[in-house]
Amino acid sequence: MKVHRLLFFILFCSQIALSTPSQDLEEVSIYSPNGRFGFNGSIVDITLENVQSGPQDKYFSLDNERRDIPTYIPRGLLVFKKDTQWNFDNSEGRGDPKLDKPVGPELSAVINHRISTYGIARLTLDSFLECGVNTSSFNTLKVIFNPDDRACRLGIGNAYYERINRPGIGRIELCGAINNQTPLPTARFFDIVSHETGHSILDALNAYFYGHRSNSPLAAFHESFADLSTFFASLRLAKIHEKDDEVVHLLSNSNISLCLALNFDGRGHCLRNSIDVNASCESHDNSRKFTNFYLKSMREVFTHYPQTSDNAYWVVNYFQKLLVQSVVSVRTVNSLYDMGTHVVQQIPLCGGLADNGINLVSTILIKQLAGERNSLQSCVVNQSAPAPLPNVGNLRLNSHQYY
Ligand SMILES: [Zn+2]
Repeated sequence: MKVHRLLFFILFCSQIALSTPSQDLEEVSIYSPNGRFGFNGSIVDITLENVQSGPQDKYFSLDNERRDIPTYIPRGLLVFKKDTQWNFDNSEGRGDPKLDKPVGPELSAVINHRISTYGIARLTLDSFLECGVNTSSFNTLKVIFNPDDRACRLGIGNAYYERINRPGIGRIELCGAINNQTPLPTARFFDIVSHETGHSILDALNAYFYGHRSNSPLAAFHESFADLSTFFASLRLAKIHEKDDEVVHLLSNSNISLCLALNFDGRGHCLRNSIDVNASCESHDNSRKFTNFYLKSMREVFTHYPQTSDNAYWVVNYFQKLLVQSVVSVRTVNSLYDMGTHVVQQIPLCGGLADNGINLVSTILIKQLAGERNSLQSCVVNQSAPAPLPNVGNLRLNSHQYY
């Protein structure tokens, strides 16, 4: 079945666009993804709305306690370029830092990482806030970022989200420092920052998935949601920078896949690739099955429409909304396959599609699920396993690491 009329798509999208009033705008520079949509990891600019006093808002803030830098990074200084030399005189401790003495290259890099981390987190969340879902679902999200985790100073390169007390309220720890003694700065990788942000977003949307053992499919779904968040965030960036041809190219590729944190190892490899085979039940490994199912489903739906960038953006936006709708409505699942069937059930309830669109998307997802049933069902929740360990403050205990 081919559907060539997209009027309902256009109406739906224009409603979203009109619902976003123009607000206080701030330019922020971030590290771009590497190897996706024509980005190469270099610094790019984005514009954010309603950034309050410095890089913070009601969802995200920066932990500045562990560094000898001003706690207040003013709005006017949010833009950094590749060779920015930051200058601060924070002797007063408050108010606008005066631009008089240079802070040195290492501290300058730390500030860049902090601003980039904030910008990527906001970009990631904004893609969810504007995909057409009820934004009150995100009200419980409150995350403090520390792009300078002390473990990094001990030589342990890391990145993880950790819940603190209540779902969606937590910390994201990253490595930000640059010198020869410290490991590769995870804060410099778009994919790693947006992945961890995705974990926090899922925790705010539904507490059910957090805190399970590494071999649980629920933990695997957490990883897949985080990876898909990276995809959605980078697609939003691609749209901002008009990488339309690259978006169409990726979404129409019969081997569609997600290469995460390309060249993190310095040897040109992906930290994770959604099409890797022989996946185990370990959560990051197992997550690829769901990510692959979801990406392929997007691609299949896209191929039924004219291959324009508007249609590509629409399809991705719809699948992002469908994912959120599925996450907030799910109660219990025992496997990634169960999660897939729940997604199918949400298609008529998700909105944004006429009847023929509902039929098309449902048919495609059911077919994809059937084709990958064995893989998606290969790891199930172990009913007899002991309950997950409580979060007792050990940063490693319940964390979601990127590797
Ligand atoms: Zn993760």
